Amino acid sequence: MAKIIDGKAISLSVKDEVKSGVEELKKQGIEVSLAVILVGNDPASGVYVNNKKKACEYCGIRSLSYELPEDTSEEKLLELIDELNGRDDVNGILVQLPLPSGINEDRVLDAISPLKDVDGFHPVNVGKLSIGKKGFVSCTPAGVIQLLKRSGIEISGKECVVIGRSNIVGKPMAMLLLKENGTVTVCHSRTADLKEVTKRADILVVAIGKPKFVDDSYVKDGAVVIDVGIHRQDNGKLCGDVDYEKVEPVASYITPVPGGVGPMTIAMLMHNCLDSVNINA
Ligand code: NAD
Repeated sequence: MAKIIDGKAISLSVKDEVKSGVEELKKQGIEVSLAVILVGNDPASGVYVNNKKKACEYCGIRSLSYELPEDTSEEKLLELIDELNGRDDVNGILVQLPLPSGINEDRVLDAISPLKDVDGFHPVNVGKLSIGKKGFVSCTPAGVIQLLKRSGIEISGKECVVIGRSNIVGKPMAMLLLKENGTVTVCHSRTADLKEVTKRADILVVAIGKPKFVDDSYVKDGAVVIDVGIHRQDNGKLCGDVDYEKVEPVASYITPVPGGVGPMTIAMLMHNCLDSVNINA
């Protein structure tokens, strides 16, 4: 029987800490603000943006919302980013992905000032993470580290296996676990014998993007299993990349879906917004 890592409760503690930090800054006359840019009418993106705005409200962060039509040109979007980069009253800038086809995502993300890049996607921040310098860190993997630490799980010296090598989750996850002195292996779609590697893991982080892919045959007895995946099933319920029913009996700790990693992403975004004041100082 695994202990369930309660991402909802942990994310609330993180948001409450941010809220206190924001209040402290307000007393010094400093306001924390986030500009959120949404291009087009993707319904899922609309929901994510709304959740981010709600979290800002909870934490006392001022959110500026830019909702642009589907046919916005890349040039117009770059102009807006340029304007926001230059504004002293904007600490963080976030462009909701995916962008409509025709807009080059890399060019847009690279245009955000690394000092305001609260998503941690800019090459400068990715580089800083890899050489251990302070900068913005991608929110989902940063959230996983908080889940582990705040659950009292030791990372140092542990065999950590990450499945997935995306720029947003897998790669920064590996860097963060390395920073915490884990012994890290990254697996991906070309890994020859996936189970042989994952069975070694004391801490297994799964970010594959395939529903219920990892069952108990991938997991060592007593391992900590972190499920980053999120999928809507045909019955309307959410599930992760891990087959929870099969893995929970063999793991020592496990994150549920929903209520595990998911809530941490926005909490860490709020944390990055607060941090942006120091980074900009
Ligand atoms: P991605 O599709 O960019 O990357 C998936 C990775 O998995 C790739 O590196 C690929 O090599 C690897 N992979 C695919 N099939 C594999 C296989 N059979 N064996 C081993 N490796 C395999 O996905 P992503 O953006 O990293 O997201 C992963 C999952 O996490 C998705 O389900 C996504 O929805 C979810 N996600 C959740 C949050 C959150 O806030 N909870 C945030 C980002 C992503």
